[in-house]
Amino acid sequence: MSLLAKRSIIKEDKSNIITLGAIAKEEKKKDPSVINATIGMYYDEKGKLVTYKSVNEALMELTDDEKYAYASTPGSNSYHEALKRWIFRQYYDEFMQKTFVSCMATPGGSGAISNTFTNYLNEGDEVLIPNYMWGNYKQFAYENHASYRTYNLFKDGHLDLDDIKKNISELKEKQKRILLVINDPCQNPTGYTMTDEEWIILTDFINEVSSDGTPFILLHDMAYIDYDYRGFDSTRNNLRLYQKLNKNVLVILAFSGSKTLALYGIRIGAQVAISTCEENIIEFAKANKFSSRAKWSNTTNLGANLIAKVILDDEKRKAFEKELEDARNILVKRAETFIASSKEVGLETLPFQCGFFITIPCKNPDEVYKKLVQKKIHIIPLGNVLRVTISAITIADCKLLPKMIKDAMIELNI
Ligand code: PLP
Repeated sequence: MSLLAKRSIIKEDKSNIITLGAIAKEEKKKDPSVINATIGMYYDEKGKLVTYKSVNEALMELTDDEKYAYASTPGSNSYHEALKRWIFRQYYDEFMQKTFVSCMATPGGSGAISNTFTNYLNEGDEVLIPNYMWGNYKQFAYENHASYRTYNLFKDGHLDLDDIKKNISELKEKQKRILLVINDPCQNPTGYTMTDEEWIILTDFINEVSSDGTPFILLHDMAYIDYDYRGFDSTRNNLRLYQKLNKNVLVILAFSGSKTLALYGIRIGAQVAISTCEENIIEFAKANKFSSRAKWSNTTNLGANLIAKVILDDEKRKAFEKELEDARNILVKRAETFIASSKEVGLETLPFQCGFFITIPCKNPDEVYKKLVQKKIHIIPLGNVLRVTISAITIADCKLLPKMIKDAMIELNI
């Protein structure tokens, strides 16, 4: 008989990303010619994990207290100020005037998602997530005694808004509350980025469906926002739509220090809650502080203080932005190269605008994965797609890879 509690017996981390990533890393250690396009971290053109010089310099300036003392559970005022300045940018004053905002430090964007699922789903409720997704969403749901349903991400190469609306209406009927997850821009795994028009239609619908008092929580997972080719300012434009949402709506932005500042292992991120109703924000702060305390007590002080130091100092922030822009430009070059090469060899990809990943529809991804490993290429098979992490490979690899994937598919008759 299992010693595990009933709900835990079926627990098994089925995500193969970490496992296959570890295999690829080992293989690359033995043979540097191996192409490792598995784990979602950013590597430079020499194959070295990118760390930002400006962030490293700020790290050296942190005092022992700033690094090693306990942090407060929600994070310090300066961390919160840094988050708001960074995320709202040119709209900072507008947000401060028109909405209520509260920040909660979390271990990465992961902690932000987990806390949100904990506090905005009743037992057995379904969270609405995309059909092509970062698989961890499903685990966060189970861990929080909830379930999930998926919306079609695409119809005719664009966001399937009809399917999102249909699912929202059904959930409204069924559970009288909605928690919708949108991962934008640079969606993982596809790289899809919503258009301005899609954002307007979505936020209008959220207003409409919640106008009768139905609680609507929009979890906006913005992990990759700073790698969008449109640049820092343009990517903030659609956030303004949140200022028009009614008092039954709460938006929670999941911010990832892992991606924006390449602080993957430091485990720092945040929930940034926005609402036009102060009550929603007060209860957000109370409940999420409780959950943070119950789950991880507090985050790394080092991570939060480091982010505050880089962002709140004009000179440091500008230097960091320049480095981040350079990294983004290389990522854009990789993407352009991969997409052009795919077109040349007739390799289909799912709609892509920008980001760390490009996804290829595939009937038998496990077989293609095995075939490619024989050719020293490691990518991730996921359901009915293959995910290529372009943030982890070079421009030269991006030129070669589509043909190698296409050839493997042809050899396997796929
Ligand atoms: N959201 C998405 C879509 C991701 O891909 C990731 C990480 O890969 C995260 C959130 C959270 O990352 P972290 O917890 O490291 O901030």
